[in-house]
Amino acid sequence: MDSLDAFIQQLPQIVPESWCFDCRICCRFPDSEKAQTPVWSGREAAWVNESAHRLPTPLKLKPVPGLPVFTPQLNPCSHSGGFHCSAFEESSKKCLIHSIKPLDCRLYPFVMTRHPSGSEPLLAIDMKCPYIQASMKEPAMAAYIHTLINYLEQTVAADYFSSNPAVVGDWWPEYLPVAWIQSASSALPLPAVSVPEGLQPVLNSDLPLIRKAEADSAENHLSGGTVDAWIPWTDLISLYWMKKPDGLFVFARQAGGFFMPFPPLAETLSPPILNEAWVQLNRLNSGNAVSRIEGVSEQQKSLFEKAGFSLRASESDYCYLRSDLADLSGDRYHSHRGMINQASKMIGEYRFRPLTPGDFNSCAELYWRWAADSYLKHPEQDETHRMIRDSFFFHQRLLKAPTAEDWVAYGLEADGKLLGYTIGRPLSDELFCIYTEMTDRTIPGLSALIFREFCRTQNQFTWINTMGDSGLEGLKQSKESYHPARMIPCWTAYKKF
Ligand code: SF4
Repeated sequence: MDSLDAFIQQLPQIVPESWCFDCRICCRFPDSEKAQTPVWSGREAAWVNESAHRLPTPLKLKPVPGLPVFTPQLNPCSHSGGFHCSAFEESSKKCLIHSIKPLDCRLYPFVMTRHPSGSEPLLAIDMKCPYIQASMKEPAMAAYIHTLINYLEQTVAADYFSSNPAVVGDWWPEYLPVAWIQSASSALPLPAVSVPEGLQPVLNSDLPLIRKAEADSAENHLSGGTVDAWIPWTDLISLYWMKKPDGLFVFARQAGGFFMPFPPLAETLSPPILNEAWVQLNRLNSGNAVSRIEGVSEQQKSLFEKAGFSLRASESDYCYLRSDLADLSGDRYHSHRGMINQASKMIGEYRFRPLTPGDFNSCAELYWRWAADSYLKHPEQDETHRMIRDSFFFHQRLLKAPTAEDWVAYGLEADGKLLGYTIGRPLSDELFCIYTEMTDRTIPGLSALIFREFCRTQNQFTWINTMGDSGLEGLKQSKESYHPARMIPCWTAYKKF
């Protein structure tokens, strides 16, 4: 057995066989054509073929057109609609090639896939699996995920993925992302993305120029008013820029078309610059009505109106006096102090300290536990599942690839374990914005403790912006309970056709 064979055959598995024998999902597919059928490399297909003659019913492999990989033939199920893998024995519910099954089958209910945005390959989990639904919050699952990530990050894994890129399959709505897999990323090229005429993709090397244009423009106190606030979303949104004699435009592209995430950057913003930005947006969207300029501040509103734009109110940001949040003194913060006392009693001595690259796996585990908890609370809600997926990309990008030197990331550690983290960056000399927080939800009051500690560390700022509430009633109540000193209004500008 060589190293590649050993790599495939030594993949640790977590689902107990007893669960598989009761399962109605695995190895069966609703459709024989558009199915999530496993994909096997030529070498794995050869192993299977060697054993196929010993099976009670013939196992046929189908080549995938145009690719050097194979997939098992599907047969109609006898007692229900749908199809089953021809290696699956319906009477015993067993895989007849269990001991030699290829990587894609060994990995399941985990899968190697790519998000439709075309970002790097990632490990995801198929939430259809009943065992996963029952055990995803167990510590053993988090430990298994660590093991699996290490397994897939071996050099031999990179060889396997580079020789068999087709085993990294399409994205399905039931998938929950777990981790980017660097071995697959380095082995597989990113799909080419077309850049619209006249635009440049926002690359790291462009950031100093864009930040300089931001610094030369009027201060924007909105959480989404800088390119750095949008960089963590670049797995889901593509960012481009364009330089004009009087200003710099940043455009964002989502499935629906282009928009500007914040107004043009210019030393003196004027109606001609705004109108030029609008002309460019309409060109990019071919006149489609999705064109809009987001992140318009209260101070910029009248200029947009003068330039003939209509404005609609967007989500306002909550803004607090930092000293209020750091002290939490007085009756109005009585309940917050109570929550913090509860968390402090539960965790004992703690350290609130800057995050280091060595914390990445612990942060990923916190995300996973939060994702599992959120999913199980709302198993049927597509909107929640989309939010969980989007958060994955945002958190991984923020944690793994810091986009600017001024991002500030802190974690709370007790008894040698990371229990939560929070990340923010300054928006001006006086204003600091907190962009995200992730905590162990089993510890009541931990979020309040981390919020207070973070505000204490940022003592050079007068104000704290905590972004909006996304229209979520619970979040709104929580943010209001901290008594914002003011709201920072935000507008979206557009022109009628
Ligand atoms: S080879 Fe075995 S594990 Fe893979 S799909 Fe077929 S029956 Fe299921």
